[in-house]
Amino acid sequence: AAKRAGGSCYALFEPHMVSDVSEQLELQNELRHALERGQLSLHYQPKIDGRRGQISGVEALLRWNHPRHGLVSPLVFIPLAERIGLIGKLGQWVIDEACRQIAEWGRDGLRMRVSVNLSPHQLRDKGLVDRIGQTLQEHGLDATQLLCEITETVAMEDIKAVQRTFEGLGAIGVFLSIDDFGTGYSSLRYLSQLPAQQLKIDRSFVSDLEHSANARAVVAAVVGLAHALGLRVVAEGVETVLQRDILLAMDCDELQGFLFARPLPPAALLAWAHGAKPEGAADFTPSVVGA
Ligand code: C2E
Ligand code: MG
Ligand code: MG
Ligand code: MG
Repeated sequence: AAKRAGGSCYALFEPHMVSDVSEQLELQNELRHALERGQLSLHYQPKIDGRRGQISGVEALLRWNHPRHGLVSPLVFIPLAERIGLIGKLGQWVIDEACRQIAEWGRDGLRMRVSVNLSPHQLRDKGLVDRIGQTLQEHGLDATQLLCEITETVAMEDIKAVQRTFEGLGAIGVFLSIDDFGTGYSSLRYLSQLPAQQLKIDRSFVSDLEHSANARAVVAAVVGLAHALGLRVVAEGVETVLQRDILLAMDCDELQGFLFARPLPPAALLAWAHGAKPEGAADFTPSVVGA
């Protein structure tokens, strides 16, 4: 059943809860079997179009349903997956599963754009673009239904690989997004050359908006810069009505955060999209596009 979207029923086992090194090693070993044991899943968090008040897409966020710890945060196990060389396999699973879900929603009459997060490892993989193209085709999807997010830090670290992958993905029609913007060190010149469509302002700025004039100045400037470069701006981690209203006044294009919904399992997301009132946002009711 669809739970209250803002509730804590999807609470995660987070990095600070890992008690010691031996527990970390145990998790690492268990992670090797998580895929074949069917313990991985994607949760989906809506993005809301700021002007139309409608859901504009969802971000797929990876979850590990661990037998003792419950839902484990990707912040715990993605670094472990990297360490044991499992990140490529996990990343491909995420793309397959997201595409399968887009196709399933499509059959239910819900046209949904889904974002997936790419790891640095995937960006360096020369076969990635072909495999994504193939996966889209297998599921009969339009490439514009998939959006790939990479963090600003990664985008600026490995410029050559990122440029190549972005150009390849852009060529097959997949949309691209720069995630956690503001936490890394961007070259503005390079940013202006990246073939991306979207920029996501990091949560840390959003959480400072209400109390810091400097944060407001930075966010307003980033929105202006992004728009001047032809990028759509998404604010992540929107938790309060005041944050939402400040962002809307700044002409931020899309909003994402617990104010609207937590990342939800597919069935709960569907129920949410079909009309459950987003908690804390009663005066701003998103509706589904294209349902
Ligand atoms: P991200 O891509 O920046 O995703 C947003 C994170 O912020 C998610 O955490 C989401 O649950 C959380 N969040 C969203 N709204 C709010 C809010 O209003 N308040 C607060 N406090 N948090 C909010 P999550 O799911 O734990 O994921 C953490 C990070 O793990 C992601 O950050 C992303 O970098 C990475 N990740 C998640 N799934 C994948 C994946 O499939 N592949 C890869 N490579 N990385 C992933
Ligand atoms: Mg992301
Ligand atoms: Mg982000
Ligand atoms: Mg983030």
